[in-house]
Amino acid sequence: MNSNMTSPSGLSGCVSASLLAGLEAGRPAAVPERWWEQAACAGLDPHMFDDASPRARAVCRGCLVRVACARDQLAWEEAYKVRRRTRVGMFGGFTPYERAAASRRARGVA
Ligand code: SF4
Repeated sequence: MNSNMTSPSGLSGCVSASLLAGLEAGRPAAVPERWWEQAACAGLDPHMFDDASPRARAVCRGCLVRVACARDQLAWEEAYKVRRRTRVGMFGGFTPYERAAASRRARGVA
């Protein structure tokens, strides 16, 4: 779990289903309650996830809990209506811009 992560509190809301749909194929159906304990980024330099570096994306792509990570971050950002410019870090392999675009699509905003 990278240091930009917020509490994985299980917030529900208008989670960007389209962004998550592509991730869920081939992933375990059951997500452990404390999924962050299996984060591939645990122990890595958290600053590596501050931007869209290819190395950070590669770590996320191989992460077993990528879906849970992306889902919880999107839910949190959408619940608190976090604007694109104030979204930070890479979560689930998605940049702030990609998450903001997915949220806009989910809300039907171009
Ligand atoms: S998807 Fe990326 S940011 Fe999320 S837990 Fe896995 S490695 Fe960390």
